[in-house]
Amino acid sequence: MTTDQVNIPEKICDNCILPGTFPGIAFNDQGTCNYCQKEAVSSNKINPAEKKNQYRLRLDALIENTKGSAPVYDMIIAYSGGKDSSYTLKLLKERYNLRMVALTFDNHFVSSTAFENIKKVTDSLEIDSITFKPSWRSIKEMFALTAKKDIFSRQTLLRASSICTACICLVKSMVLKTALEMSIPLVGFGWSPGQAPIQSAILKTNPSFSLSTQNVLKNAFPPELIDELHQYFIPDDYFNSFKDSFPHNIHPLAFYDYDEDRIKKELNELGWLAPEDTDTNSSNCLINAYANNCHISRHGFHPYVWEIANMVRQGLISRDLGLIKIYSKQNKTMINYAKRRLTNGAT
Ligand SMILES: [Zn+2]
Repeated sequence: MTTDQVNIPEKICDNCILPGTFPGIAFNDQGTCNYCQKEAVSSNKINPAEKKNQYRLRLDALIENTKGSAPVYDMIIAYSGGKDSSYTLKLLKERYNLRMVALTFDNHFVSSTAFENIKKVTDSLEIDSITFKPSWRSIKEMFALTAKKDIFSRQTLLRASSICTACICLVKSMVLKTALEMSIPLVGFGWSPGQAPIQSAILKTNPSFSLSTQNVLKNAFPPELIDELHQYFIPDDYFNSFKDSFPHNIHPLAFYDYDEDRIKKELNELGWLAPEDTDTNSSNCLINAYANNCHISRHGFHPYVWEIANMVRQGLISRDLGLIKIYSKQNKTMINYAKRRLTNGAT
């Protein structure tokens, strides 16, 4: 695909790809947005390569102190079967040979290719795998609500759609809950370098902060839905009873070299294949196109544009590829597929 086939907005940053409709955006005379200008000022101060190296050393030290100390697993990873989490699994297993377990949250919209990929990657890397699938009734109600309504804060919705935020919130809860219950000291995520900043790439979780974050998210849901979803959240008493064993969260793609083509090539060698039935932003999820569509109609900008603009700015993907990922025509078949399942209730 080339950029001729994409629908580029009239007003767009000449450097990254943030559109004129993005909240708080302003352009200078050269057509560069304020987010790019801010980034240029802060990256003048720190050498990004040096910073990444510091984080790699920090992870080496953390793993040296942690590996082998837990009863069963050193690390649990949130595993969607997409390319970023698959690569995170490969990178950590090969570099550190950790005792790992991959937790897949089956939101009822995981593509069959993603499941095949999960099997191939975990088998090939010799990693244990757990799939957790909540009931269709609760998931359907959550997606049907978030498709219609923005229940989260404006700040959150700059970076992800309402549907995605709700789903990720359950994924994070389930992973942390499992880590606490199984005394696993490290929790891995495959956030791309555009999704999550390097500053949070190695972070000790804190019981009181985790509790208040969970409360903010829970309070965003209407009470009747919380009744449906409560078992996916961390029980309140865990924050005290496990207070001394809260794990470190790690998202290593923020500080390891990230090159989409190379990542896909390395994963292909494990048998991983890019699904053909998903949209340009997800290699595993069949509700993503609809989630994006709902967000674009309500907010006038694509929910992945923040992430992809970050990647373009960091030079991790070309601007043309960024334009294709964000401004390609929406996939009507995928949108209608998800909409239909949420409307008529078919599992
Ligand atoms: Zn920009």
